[in-house]
Amino acid sequence: MFYGLRCIACGRSIELERIVYTCPHCGGLLEVVYDLDKIEISRQSLEGVKESVWKYRSLLPFPADIKPISIQEGGTALYRCDRLAASIGIDELYVKHEGLNPTGSFKDRGMTVGVTKALELGMEVVACASTGNTSAALSIYAAKAGIPAVVLLPAGKVALGKVAQALMHGAKVIGIRGNFDDALTLVRDLCEKERFYLLNSINPYRLEGQKTIGFEIADQLGWRVPDRLVLPVGNAGNITAIFKGFVEFRAAGITDTVPKMCGIQAEGSCPVADAFRAGKKDIEPEKNPETIATAIRIGDPVNAVKALAAIYDSGGLADTVSDDEIIQAQRDLAKLEGIGVEPASAASVAGLRKLVENGAIKRDESVVCVTTGHLLKDPEEVITVCGAPFEVDARIEEVMRVVRER
Ligand SMILES: *Cc1c(COP(=O)(O)O)cnc(C)c1O
Ligand SMILES: [Zn+2]
Repeated sequence: MFYGLRCIACGRSIELERIVYTCPHCGGLLEVVYDLDKIEISRQSLEGVKESVWKYRSLLPFPADIKPISIQEGGTALYRCDRLAASIGIDELYVKHEGLNPTGSFKDRGMTVGVTKALELGMEVVACASTGNTSAALSIYAAKAGIPAVVLLPAGKVALGKVAQALMHGAKVIGIRGNFDDALTLVRDLCEKERFYLLNSINPYRLEGQKTIGFEIADQLGWRVPDRLVLPVGNAGNITAIFKGFVEFRAAGITDTVPKMCGIQAEGSCPVADAFRAGKKDIEPEKNPETIATAIRIGDPVNAVKALAAIYDSGGLADTVSDDEIIQAQRDLAKLEGIGVEPASAASVAGLRKLVENGAIKRDESVVCVTTGHLLKDPEEVITVCGAPFEVDARIEEVMRVVRER
């Protein structure tokens, strides 16, 4: 076998057919490990292959003959953003726009792998807790696979576009009177009791799909690795996954270095940044996380230990931004670059601006910001921050009056 499952805490191997999400011996987080001697992958073997998560299938945990449940996820645009770079004060900035995935967030990358794994393991129902995007992504792959999906959401705290997706694609959508962390505790219990397959990012296979963001960035930059990667952190799976991708590419000899991983959280919801600033390897959960960026409104991130290790190992950092800074960055992306993102995604650019201003990131460093979700996910937030459109009587004088107003 060319891959295995290993506990990051005690180092024990876990049998691949066991349905467990944490180590049965010590409770530690699990990760997928590869035997690179048994894997064929090189710049040459990747040349000319269509961009997608499955372009990198030799570094994904499946036999060669597996038929993926795929809806053309991945292969998202990497934009060079010179106007935004100039406004922030750096020379070389790219935005990896994960809002261009099928449901409009990077969660699709994790779910194409996760649902394919669920079927391989013979699981018949998939489930997750979600701040919204995970549920949207799970719903489309469950639909494509023809199996039921159950999603638990914090009632009243999920952006409208995300709920709409989960509902239309046929998931059983259940609002919990509580926050995301409560929903996650409940769904873990539910999966145990009902033998549903849990597809939150505690599931190590989810992260295998998401690590392809790292692969793709190197690939799209012509096998160059940027100095920095800046991205929002919620449950802390994505920063872990992207770093894993860069580490594996380096181990396979495809690239020769890794970027400094910079995780950005909202001020009202920042256990990872707090732990980093205190030099700790694990977090203190935040009981009442609060931010306009609902996708990162998470007080007890399950992957915190992995994420902090990625940050320390890469020489990166974690920091916070305010909701006002997030909204400003969302407007900057939209107006300077034509990139429409939801608030959580804009935390990356808000964080970059702050880190350049305080000197933590230098002007001549090459930076990739990951924008994790699409603008249309959260239309209500847009109306709140931009105001509703003008409305006038259907007469040309009225229209001209508004046009000429400043
Ligand atoms: C899930 C999500 C995040 C947070 O990612 P984690 O892996 O939970 O840290 C950030 N932004 C958006 C839009 C998301 O959907
Ligand atoms: Zn263990």
